[in-house]
Amino acid sequence: MATIIGVPKESLPGEKRVAATPESVKKLFQRGLVLRVEKGAGLAAGYADEAYRLAGAELVDDGWKDSDAVFKVRAPTVEEAGRLKDGALLVCLLYPDRTPGLTDVLKPKKVTALALEKIPRVTRAQKMDVLSSQANLSGYRAVVEAAAHLQGFFGPQVTAAGSTPPAKVLIIGAGVAGLAAIGAARALGAEVRAFDTRAAAREQVESMGAKFLEVTVKELGEGGGGYAKVMSPEFIAAEMALFRAQAKEVDVIISTALVPGTKAPVLLPRDVVEHLKPGSVVVDMAAEQGGNCELCRPGEVVDFQGVKILGFTDLPSRMAATSSKFFAMNLVHLAGELGQGDTLTVNLDNDVVRPSLVLHQGETLPPLPPKAPSLPAPKSIAPRPDAKPKQQIMSQSGRAWGTTVGGLALISGLFVLGRFAPPDFLQHSTVFILACFVGWQVVWAVTPALHTPLMSVTNAISGIIIIGGMVQVGAHLDAATILGAIAVLFAAINISGGFLVTQRMLRMFQREAAPAASKGGR
Ligand code: NAD
Repeated sequence: MATIIGVPKESLPGEKRVAATPESVKKLFQRGLVLRVEKGAGLAAGYADEAYRLAGAELVDDGWKDSDAVFKVRAPTVEEAGRLKDGALLVCLLYPDRTPGLTDVLKPKKVTALALEKIPRVTRAQKMDVLSSQANLSGYRAVVEAAAHLQGFFGPQVTAAGSTPPAKVLIIGAGVAGLAAIGAARALGAEVRAFDTRAAAREQVESMGAKFLEVTVKELGEGGGGYAKVMSPEFIAAEMALFRAQAKEVDVIISTALVPGTKAPVLLPRDVVEHLKPGSVVVDMAAEQGGNCELCRPGEVVDFQGVKILGFTDLPSRMAATSSKFFAMNLVHLAGELGQGDTLTVNLDNDVVRPSLVLHQGETLPPLPPKAPSLPAPKSIAPRPDAKPKQQIMSQSGRAWGTTVGGLALISGLFVLGRFAPPDFLQHSTVFILACFVGWQVVWAVTPALHTPLMSVTNAISGIIIIGGMVQVGAHLDAATILGAIAVLFAAINISGGFLVTQRMLRMFQREAAPAASKGGR
């Protein structure tokens, strides 16, 4: 029986997003899944009921009723959770600690609850990472809101009536939201500087055309899983001193500093805000987690001595059409991790799904062993405390041995075959098997972070394959010609695909480089 996915209308006041769009419904429907979208669920985001119906969804009055799975943006209320079908799968931004009594309702119903905020930030899971897709939009929106509240231009102006210099913008925290904010502020022509505790952020900040600020206290900011760690009080004090000095210069501060699972660090106390000029703007993106600015009030605009402090907690919702589109596509990709075809099934061995499960069939799962950070660790000859567990290393070396033995067995088999097959067969097949074996070993050993540069290497390999394939294509239609043609086709697809992706990446950099170049030319 096909899984029925319910998409209820969001009930949180002000939440305009929806967990499925007509585009995502179509993709899930094509898989054979049954989609039941609550009437009016997408209206606030600009998606009409009719568009869902045309995409293959059934329009229903109640998105919870009889649904085997429920896709949602925000966590359900306790009342909504009570309407879930027994044994259902719930997928949303759950934050179970923020809704008292929620898990008490879900447990006896044997619900499997997948919390989107817990999806690990690893390369493979990027396309399912709701926090990143929404933070990216929010960083952009934070700049738009700051620009709307600032009483001046972001970019430099030279007019007959006078001129103004570019606005000076400080971004605190250069994670996903911070980098998006840098990009948007630079695009508007502002002069941008940024600070982050992670050393790896420097390169990213500078590549986006902003200046990276430093403090005198040296402390590594990298934590596990691509996130930062909580910094020492001395470091935070040094940061505040830096921001106090910066506050005398800048017009806009956008703060995004956060270590997941902790309260946001207070980095902009009252006395730092006092150093800002009247008319300046602070956008505190961490407002929902307690705020980076002492004077911020979640969801409000505070006017402190002429300085506007924006504590909006609904930045993605202010761009509901696009944020819903990205959110919904994140869920389509996540559904790909929950089996294929017309059913959704939870596989506890899946490295994206397992860490995201808050409940599995009503049970809390045992905590996972700590993972090695995906960020570069300091050079050291001592064993790293985060080193991979022995069992994992053993299983990887076991896999390598398995491949080696398998490869040798295949080659031996070919030798036996070679006694009966034409002489060329043995030579070509041996090269083929060895190429597969070496390729497999090389790709397997590359860390996910290096998969993009690896793509260029595979492009080079595809170039060799094309030449090899062309040599094999002869005048007669025989097996070698057919195989050669197939090799040419696949290698050509790989090369052109690689070029297209590289082209897209280059365009991103060119957008950043263009303003810098024109500035230098003036
Ligand atoms: P992220 O984890 O990618 O980035 C946070 C960054 O803060 C990291 O780069 C980290 O190194 C840095 N950081 C941590 N402690 C710091 C410190 N003491 N000083 C300076 N930098 C520090 O997170 P993100 O996805 O970019 O989200 C950033 C913030 O925006 C979060 O608080 C998130 O909840 C919030 N957010 C708000 C909205 C909204 O509507 N207001 C929407 C989306 C995200």
